[in-house]
Amino acid sequence: MTVNLRTKLSISYVLVAIISVLLIMVLANIFLDKHFRDYVKHNQEQKNREIITAISTQYQSNDKWNMEAIEAVGVNALENGLIIKVKDISGKVLWDATDHNNGMCQRIIEQMAHNVSSRYPYIKGDYTEVPYPIKYEYNQVGVVEIGSYGPYYLSNHDLLFINSLNKLMIGVGVFSLFFALVIGSIMARRLSLPIAKVTEASQAIANGYYSERIESESSTSEINRLTSSINHLAESLEKQELLRKRLTADVAHELRTPIATLQSHMEAMIDGIWKPDTERLKSCHEEIVRIGRMVGGLEKLSRYESENLVLEKVSFDVTDLVKALINNFESNFLAKGIKINFSGSTQIILADRDKISQVVVNLLSNALKYTLEGGEVKVSVKGTEDTTKIIVSDNGTGIPEEDIPNIFERFYRADKSRNRLTGGAGIGLTISKAIIVAHGGTIAVNSSRETGSEFVVTLPK
Ligand code: ADP
Repeated sequence: MTVNLRTKLSISYVLVAIISVLLIMVLANIFLDKHFRDYVKHNQEQKNREIITAISTQYQSNDKWNMEAIEAVGVNALENGLIIKVKDISGKVLWDATDHNNGMCQRIIEQMAHNVSSRYPYIKGDYTEVPYPIKYEYNQVGVVEIGSYGPYYLSNHDLLFINSLNKLMIGVGVFSLFFALVIGSIMARRLSLPIAKVTEASQAIANGYYSERIESESSTSEINRLTSSINHLAESLEKQELLRKRLTADVAHELRTPIATLQSHMEAMIDGIWKPDTERLKSCHEEIVRIGRMVGGLEKLSRYESENLVLEKVSFDVTDLVKALINNFESNFLAKGIKINFSGSTQIILADRDKISQVVVNLLSNALKYTLEGGEVKVSVKGTEDTTKIIVSDNGTGIPEEDIPNIFERFYRADKSRNRLTGGAGIGLTISKAIIVAHGGTIAVNSSRETGSEFVVTLPK
């Protein structure tokens, strides 16, 4: 069973509130109740002592009592809910609350029973009269019996106090529940809204709408990370899609031009418009070679990009290899009026020699292609503790900033309206990257229109 976030969060908040309020109520009742009972008992004893003192001061020696004052104390006690009976030492009743006002006494007893049972229904109490001695100069001169409801009783004030405390706690509980519900649903809304947006957007992306982006800026960092990664995913997919479309268009375009040229040349010769002389056949041959090169490049690429590119690793000096390759290219550079120089000393690496030389050839031929007459190309090999770098830099045309992230993609050419003479198939760098990655290395480019390009191949030792 799945429950939505909102319900889940609200339920948890409410549960937490209920548990805390119940816990507070139970604990408060357990601890408070004990103290409260002690307090009530203590209070009762205090009142009793006050009555005994008040009565004992009314003894005036030789069995004489101030009867008016005793009555005043008794009436006062009765008004405060205490039933007393005063006797002298011989047992003669001096004053009795029940005699004074029996009806009121009955009501007080009922009230006491009612108060106790309303608070502690499990306690079976009864009305008892406890005798306390009245002393005069260390001798007992009489007895005062104070009626109480045992084991203890609650006055109206006591009951009011404890009941309002409980009501307060219930009030707090209801309030917390209400707040828990409100805050829970607000929080849930704030969490679930962006998640719903992300879900919606990712569904749109899954349906091929790669331009979809999520705009919400949430205050929850995880949600922000989620939205930004979905946005990133959409961006990559959009880019991939664009490249794929471009790739198809490029392959078609790439093949169409030489095929169309071939076709028209052939037709012209078949129709007898052109004589099939060496010159014409040579031009046809060039086109076929172009097609062949492209198909070859594609073939190579699929081989290199397949997961198990087999490397035949040997130990060799890269500097030696690079120098030899520069030598092969020297005449081409000279012919274009480009200076080429090399710096570096012996650097032994363990790598596939043929494939590394292919990378260097690609970089050199690019430098040759994209450097204008009178330019300069610098090649160097540098070693650090655990890497070897091959750097090919030129002061040629450079690569526009927006094309830099794509030049390692297959068929990608910075100059889309490429000059057919300089333009290659746009696979050289893709193959180079596949080779270097298979070696566990990296290939990077720094380039600008003003300064030219620098390609840095880094290989682990
Ligand atoms: P291509 O066969 O077209 O040279 P690459 O994969 O070797 O294909 O290069 C891809 C693109 O990168 C080129 O079309 C070109 O726009 C750009 N590029 C590569 N090397 C350089 C360079 N040294 N200077 C300027 N642009 C370069």
